Amino acid sequence: GFKMGIVGLPNVGKSTTFNALTKTAAAQAANFPFCTIEPNVGDVGVPDARLDKLAAIATSKQIIPTRMTFVDIAGLVKGASKGEGLGNQFLANIREVDAIAHVLRCFEDKDVTHVEDRIDPVADAETIETELMLADLESIEKRRANLVRKLKGNDKEAQQQDRLLQEAQEMLESGKPARLVEVDAEDAKAWSMLQLLTTKPVLYVCNVGESESVEGNEHSKAVAEMAAAQGNSHVIISAQIEEEISQLEADEAAMFLEEMGLAEAGLDRLIRAGYELLQLETYFTVGPKEARAWTIKKGTLAPQAAGVIHGDFEKGFIRAETIAYDDYIACNGESGAKEAGKMRAEGKSYLVQDGDVMHFLFNT
Ligand code: GDP
Repeated sequence: GFKMGIVGLPNVGKSTTFNALTKTAAAQAANFPFCTIEPNVGDVGVPDARLDKLAAIATSKQIIPTRMTFVDIAGLVKGASKGEGLGNQFLANIREVDAIAHVLRCFEDKDVTHVEDRIDPVADAETIETELMLADLESIEKRRANLVRKLKGNDKEAQQQDRLLQEAQEMLESGKPARLVEVDAEDAKAWSMLQLLTTKPVLYVCNVGESESVEGNEHSKAVAEMAAAQGNSHVIISAQIEEEISQLEADEAAMFLEEMGLAEAGLDRLIRAGYELLQLETYFTVGPKEARAWTIKKGTLAPQAAGVIHGDFEKGFIRAETIAYDDYIACNGESGAKEAGKMRAEGKSYLVQDGDVMHFLFNT
C-alpha cells in the first residue's frame, strides 16, 4: 500500500488531524510538544463517489474502498538533523513514506503554545524543509564515503549511485531540495532507491481556525502562494472541526457540513489530494457480492493491475474484460454495456485507465 507521513512542528495539529483521519483516540492530542512518541499508523478508506454509484447499479452487497496508510510522525523540530528533539528516529520514519503531508499552523489561539512564539506557516515550512535538507546532506556524505571502495573497483552500480548522490548534494548545497534535480528516465529507479527526504512530494495542510475552513485566512493564502511557487499542492482544513465531524454518524456529519457551508469534509479532500500527489489511480471490480476499488500507480499495465488483487492473477493473466466508468454508468451496468458493445477485451499491453471496471481472466 501507499503511505503518507504527517509531519510538522509540535502543536500545529498533526495528532488532531491524524485522529480525525483514523477516527481513533489512539494518537492522543495534548497541548505540549512530543506527546506522540511512537509513530502512529492508520489505514484510511479513500472516499470515491464513483464506487457508491457502481455499487448502486450492481446492487452489490458490500462496498470496499481502496485504502491509504497515514503515519503520524511527531517530534520534528529545529535541530532534528543534529539529534534535537526526537531527532534521527523521526527522520528514519519519514524515509519510509511515499509522500509527506506537512501540517502548518494557520490558526490563532493564545492557549496553544507555538514553539517559536509566532504564527508564520511559511517560516515553519522553511524550518522543517531546512531540517530535511540537512539530514539529506548528512546521509549523502556518509553514503558517498561508503562508496569510495566500490568506486575503486569500477562497480557500475556504485558509479551511478555516486553520480546521483553528487547531483543531489550540489542541489542541497545551493539551498534547494533534492526534488528539483532533473533525473533521466534510465536513472529514475536508482534515484528513488536513494530515498532522500527532500525528494518526497509534499502536500501542505493548512490548519485554520474553526470559522475559516471554507475561505481560509491570510496565513493559508501565504502558504498557497508558497506551494504554487514550489509546484507543491495545499489543502485547507480545520483539524478541530474535522475531529468533531469524525465522531458523528454519517447523516449527522452531512448535516453539520451543510450548516458549515462545506461541500465535503476537509479530510476527504486531504485524502484525495494525497492520492493525486502520489499519482495514483483507481480501478474497480463490481459484482453482486461486492463493489471494490483498487489502487494502482498511473501508467500500470493490465497484468500488474491484476497483480494488486492477487499475484496469481498477474502470473496467469489471459485478458481483461473492461468497461470505462462513464460507459458503465451510461449503459446502466455490465449487461447494458455488453449489449452496447462497450465491454472491451484487453490484453497484456493494455494501460489501465482511471475508473475502469475490470474483470480479469487468468490461468491457474
Ligand atoms: P501536534 O503536536 O502537531 O500533533 O498538535 P496536536 O494535534 O496535539 O494539537 C496541539 C494543540 O492544538 C491541542 O491542544 C489541539 O487541541 C490544538 N489544536 C489543534 N488544531 C487546532 C485548531 O484548528 N484550532 C485550535 N484553536 N486549536 C487546535
